[in-house]
Amino acid sequence: MEIVARCPKCDAGLPIHAPEEPAAIKCGRCGADIPLAISEDVRADRAVDRCPVCGGADFYIRKDFDPKVGLTVVVIGALISGIFYWFGRDLVAYSILAGAVLIDLVVYGRLKDVTVCYRCHSEFRGAYERRAGSFDLHTADVLEVEYQRRVGRR
Ligand SMILES: [Zn+2]
Ligand SMILES: [Zn+2]
Repeated sequence: MEIVARCPKCDAGLPIHAPEEPAAIKCGRCGADIPLAISEDVRADRAVDRCPVCGGADFYIRKDFDPKVGLTVVVIGALISGIFYWFGRDLVAYSILAGAVLIDLVVYGRLKDVTVCYRCHSEFRGAYERRAGSFDLHTADVLEVEYQRRVGRR
């Protein structure tokens, strides 16, 4: 399993490869020592049951999507369709714009799911079984505040 641990102090993303990881890592940005408690299931890529960074057991699933890529496709599509629109080819212009949005949707639909920790936002990628539900704003509000108080960010 590939994990992106979030530094509790500065929120930097720190990539970890689960089976080889030592009991602690050092944050590359702020130098904080981050103790890791990787559970058996996480180590074996079976399931995400406990977060190695914050110890929490509450996760949600989201698409592994980089919003910047999606936006680029739509922006390029909009630019090209703008050129056609300028020359009075409205139909072509609209088709290209629709095409760009469609490409975006296809890319989005093919993406794998990534599990994210509600408390510290660490991310978990791998072949493990997805058990978490989708994002719930209320749960996130409660757990994030609880965690940030605990690590002293609020
Ligand atoms: Zn840090
Ligand atoms: Zn966590």
